[in-house]
Amino acid sequence: MNRKKLLIITFTLIVILFSLLIINHKTNDLVKQMDEYGIKYEKGTIKVLNFFKYKNKISEFKKEKEVENELLLKKCDEYKLECNFDKLDFFDANSKLVKIVKKEEDRLKSGKFVYLTFDDGPSKKTTPILDVLAKNNVPATFFITCKSDKETLRRIHREGHLIALHSCSHKYDEIYERKESYINDLEKLQKNIKKAVDVEPKYYRFPGGSNGYATTDTVREYTANTLQKRGYEYFDWNCSTGDSGYPRPNDEQLIKTATSCGNSKQIIILFHDGIANSTSPKALEGIIKYYKEKGYNFSVLNSNTKPIHFK
Ligand SMILES: [Zn+2]
Repeated sequence: MNRKKLLIITFTLIVILFSLLIINHKTNDLVKQMDEYGIKYEKGTIKVLNFFKYKNKISEFKKEKEVENELLLKKCDEYKLECNFDKLDFFDANSKLVKIVKKEEDRLKSGKFVYLTFDDGPSKKTTPILDVLAKNNVPATFFITCKSDKETLRRIHREGHLIALHSCSHKYDEIYERKESYINDLEKLQKNIKKAVDVEPKYYRFPGGSNGYATTDTVREYTANTLQKRGYEYFDWNCSTGDSGYPRPNDEQLIKTATSCGNSKQIIILFHDGIANSTSPKALEGIIKYYKEKGYNFSVLNSNTKPIHFK
C-alpha cells in the first residue's frame, strides 16, 4: 500500500468516525426529545442505527399533535374561549389546549345551563340588549335574518356571542312554499353573514319553530335531513318570553313568563330582538338575575347542548 492510499483510507476513516459522532450526538438529542414528549421507543444497543426511526417517530408525533391542536382550537372557537398560544411550540400549546378545553367541557356537561336566544334581529333594539349582556358578562345566541344591521352584527360577533341562522326573508309564504325554499333562503343568509363577519354558522332555527303552522312535515324533514348531513343542527326552545305576542307583555309579565319554565338542567329561552318586537333591557336584566340566583350558568349553544326539537 502506498502512502497516498494510506492517507485516503485514514482520511475516510476519520470522516466516518466524525460523522458517527455527530449522528450519535443527534440521536441522543432525539432520545431526549422522545422522553420529553413521552413517546415510547425501542432502545437498540447501537443507538445511531435508530437515528432515522427516531426522527420519523418524532415527526409523526408532531403531525398528530398539530392535527389535534387544530381540532382543539376549533373547540375554543365554539366555546368562545381565549386560546391564543401562538408563542408556544406545538407540544406546550397542546397541553395548555387540552387542559383549557377539558375544563370547559366538564363545566358544560355537569352544570345547569340557560341559553338566551334572540330571534329576528339584529336591529336597533339589539344594542341595549347587548349592553345588558355585557354588563352581566353573559353570552347569548342570535338567530338572525338578512335585515340585520351589519354594525350590530359585527358587535355581536366581537363580544363573544354566537351568530346562528334563522331566515333571510323571514316570509313564511316564501320560505315554506316548497321543500327546497327554506334551504335556498338559508344559503342567501349564510352568504350575508360570511360577508359581514366571516363566520359560517351551523345552528339554525325555523321561523315559527319546527312545529309552527307554516313548517309542514315535508319541509321540516327535507330541510333537517339535508342540513344535518352537512353538520347542521336546529334548535327550538323550552322557555318562551312571549315577547312577540299581542298585546305586548310588560316587563313584569316578561320576567314572570321567562322564569316559570321549571328547573331542568337545560333551559333554552326564546327572545326576540327584531325591530317589531323585543324584550326590554329591563326585563332581560331581571331574567338574568333570576337564573344567576338559581345557580344557572350561561352559554352560547354548543355541541354539548342537547337540541330541543318540537318535531
Ligand atoms: Zn322569527
